[in-house]
Amino acid sequence: KAKKHYGQNYQYYQADMEDEMAERLAMLRMLRQDFAQGQLQLWYQPQISLQTKQVVGMEALLRWPQGDGQYVSPAIFIPLAEYSGLIVEIGSWVLEQACLQIKQLEKQGFSGLRIAVNVSMPQFRNQGFVQSVIDCVGRYQIKPELLELEITESVVMDEPKIVIEALQKLKSFGIKVAIDDFGIGFSSLSYLQQLPLDRIKVDRAFIRDIDQAAGEVIAETIISLGKRLNLSTIAEGVETAAQEKAILAMGCDEVQGFMYAKPMPPADLLQYLQQSAAKPGQG
Ligand code: C2E
Ligand code: MG
Ligand code: MG
Ligand code: MG
Repeated sequence: KAKKHYGQNYQYYQADMEDEMAERLAMLRMLRQDFAQGQLQLWYQPQISLQTKQVVGMEALLRWPQGDGQYVSPAIFIPLAEYSGLIVEIGSWVLEQACLQIKQLEKQGFSGLRIAVNVSMPQFRNQGFVQSVIDCVGRYQIKPELLELEITESVVMDEPKIVIEALQKLKSFGIKVAIDDFGIGFSSLSYLQQLPLDRIKVDRAFIRDIDQAAGEVIAETIISLGKRLNLSTIAEGVETAAQEKAILAMGCDEVQGFMYAKPMPPADLLQYLQQSAAKPGQG
């Protein structure tokens, strides 16, 4: 009956959906293959203290290069990797790379810089996840507090029990936890109480709209919420001096955004850190 009702459109949509699924499957196959061949890269975007203007750490961000020098956006391939479960393997590679990078930076004279890694729900569902993170920190003999896990509100809301339990174990081991893209998900404030958090990341959307009344009040509310819960706050996507001025006045602790630095390949990171260390006050 439904078929009759939709008539031509039904067939049109079905063909469309089949095309889209075939396309996504092909992309997933390529992702799997490129990952297996070591083609994925982990880039780093600096995070800067607003008080000292010093680099305090960076966020690790996946990059999938194509033959033509272009990159597929993580916004496209991460959901695919999550849906297929491939993110479990990719995620453990990301963690490994991040720990290795912390160790290498330490050897190069930059000790104490933390690295934040994004973690998806399928990783938490994996039984051995907590232990694998702890093992990784042990293998590279890095300070656990230099590794930070970023989770989004949707991850928490998906399976609060699993996520809270895992984070509590990781936290008691010394690993840091940040809630990412805060304010845009379906956050239940009651989870903020139960989550062993260290940091709140104010979503880029509110920083972008900070010159408008709604953006301003939301950014301000999130930052003061963080302060009152004794959590550190970091603003994502800061692009202009006006935005920096606004969040500084709100008492935000740290910033991450194109105004300071874009995500960069590991090969450029050392040079960036050396330059910013030589020019204190300019991030
Ligand atoms: P995210 O974790 O919220 O990462 C921040 C995103 O904002 C990054 O996009 C970064 O390049 C971008 N960004 C930073 N500063 C600015 C700015 O000033 N202006 C603008 N317009 N954008 C800025 P990216 O690298 O495309 O990553 C998108 C998302 O993909 C990430 O959002 C994260 O959710 C996901 N992702 C990336 N790497 C990983 C990973 O290793 N594992 C998992 N599970 N997810 C990842
Ligand atoms: Mg993130
Ligand atoms: Mg974010
Ligand atoms: Mg995001």
